[in-house]
Amino acid sequence: MKYYSTNKNTPDVSLKEAVVKGLAADNGLFMPERIEKFEPAFFDQIQNLSFQEIASEVAKKFFGEDIEEAKLKEIVFDTLQFDCPVVKVTDSIYSLELFHGPTLAFKDVGARFMARLLNHFLGKQEKLVNVLVATSGDTGSAVANGFLGVDGIHVYVLYPKGKVSDIQESQFTTLGQNITALEIEGTFDDCQHLVKTAFLDDELNKKLVLTSANSINVARFLPQAFYYFNAYARLKEAGKLDDKQLVVSVPSGNFGNLTAGLIAAEMGLPVKQFIAANNENDVVFEYLNTGEYKPRPSVETIANAMDVGAPSNFARILDLYKNEHAVVAGKIKGYRYSDEEIREVILKVYNEHNYLCDPHGACGYQSLSDYLSENEIGVFLETAHPAKFTETVETVVGKGKVELPEKLAAFMKGEKKSEQMTKEYPDFKRYLLDRPI
Ligand SMILES: *Cc1c(COP(=O)(O)O)cnc(C)c1O
Repeated sequence: MKYYSTNKNTPDVSLKEAVVKGLAADNGLFMPERIEKFEPAFFDQIQNLSFQEIASEVAKKFFGEDIEEAKLKEIVFDTLQFDCPVVKVTDSIYSLELFHGPTLAFKDVGARFMARLLNHFLGKQEKLVNVLVATSGDTGSAVANGFLGVDGIHVYVLYPKGKVSDIQESQFTTLGQNITALEIEGTFDDCQHLVKTAFLDDELNKKLVLTSANSINVARFLPQAFYYFNAYARLKEAGKLDDKQLVVSVPSGNFGNLTAGLIAAEMGLPVKQFIAANNENDVVFEYLNTGEYKPRPSVETIANAMDVGAPSNFARILDLYKNEHAVVAGKIKGYRYSDEEIREVILKVYNEHNYLCDPHGACGYQSLSDYLSENEIGVFLETAHPAKFTETVETVVGKGKVELPEKLAAFMKGEKKSEQMTKEYPDFKRYLLDRPI
């Protein structure tokens, strides 16, 4: 299968090239040239398959031409060593919990898959493949844990000193093995600048194999379709879809998760309606309502993983629906919530239904509550465990109400190891060149 750029100004590339490069040469995002549909019969039987089996079938539709079946299945099963269960919140609203992976957020799925795919394509090279990732917190932990122990790959996580939470920092500084944390005297933007400069540095690229693990990478993006199919299967298995149609709400920032859901629907997954749930960063909400897309700087909210003012995957959504506003606005309904509303939702859902949402999931829940009509059943993506946002959630529901899961507690107990570095590029470059290759 070939991958084209959403900017359509550069030749199509192979899967391997799309994964290694991340971004197309014309700065567009890669899209698969074909989206293959399942036969309707697949959905009649889907409830008999496990999550991993369903994901393998979905993966085959994307990657089946490029990776041998047994290998692909191995990659999928190895990625999904945790469940993404569908949990009842009310009679008509269910939570698709995507936080049972190593770092307790949905990005684990894509990061783990990408690590294994990269290892498949590059793992047997003579040279080590160096993954450089700049993080303001969560991406670093998902990538580091996704790539942990993967042969032939070394990960450098660059993060701004003193600007990530202790829990976040512990998730990428305590791992050891093939993960190195670089604590930069500077801001997130400085970290990003170092990484971007390194990718453009010819001398460095002649000596080292460098790649990124950006969230726009097709190997991180497409596997996010897996859990939509599984949610459908598990609800069908429980008899919930016998006389009701499915509505899916996705708390959205860069819109990768939602776009993967839209692709699942293009593959035939019976979803009646998608909802994009936003915080006050609402440029897509505005687009859906007015037809005008006006990116602007993000504002800080308590659902901070959705604080995005120019969502990168919006280009994929426009591409998918040929830039037709009416089509996009039909496929996606938009909702947005203020911090105050998000707090109210967390409290209400906790008090009335004994379910603890994180600030992102709360947007998803409320949009379903606002949208659903009688013959529909709703699922929202619960994108992170509430313990990742303990401070915010406990100011709402009360101190001591959020249990620290075993996995997070274990990170906190680990020994922090990081290398100190200035934000000057020559220092970073010298450091990389001095490393064993
Ligand atoms: C990354 C993230 C999001 C946003 O997902 P997109 O795919 O960027 O829209 C939402 N919630 C949490 C917890 C996240 O980490």
